[in-house]
Amino acid sequence: MAPESVLFRGDDSPVLVEASLACRVCLSGDVEYVLKPELWAAEADCVCLACGERRTVSLTEEQALRLALHRR
Ligand SMILES: [Zn+2]
Repeated sequence: MAPESVLFRGDDSPVLVEASLACRVCLSGDVEYVLKPELWAAEADCVCLACGERRTVSLTEEQALRLALHRR
């Protein structure tokens, strides 16, 4: 399955970033992610802490940087 892309910008507020990564199954915003920097793009493995749903999202360089700086 191709990674889905998420919509947020590098300067969006944490609330918007969190909302864009929220679980698609139970809509929980309690999602842990692990960044996987690739050569041309980046991906993040997301795990929902509420229901255990796992998914991979593709990130732009700007989004990856944002997530790297957005540690909870
Ligand atoms: Zn969930």
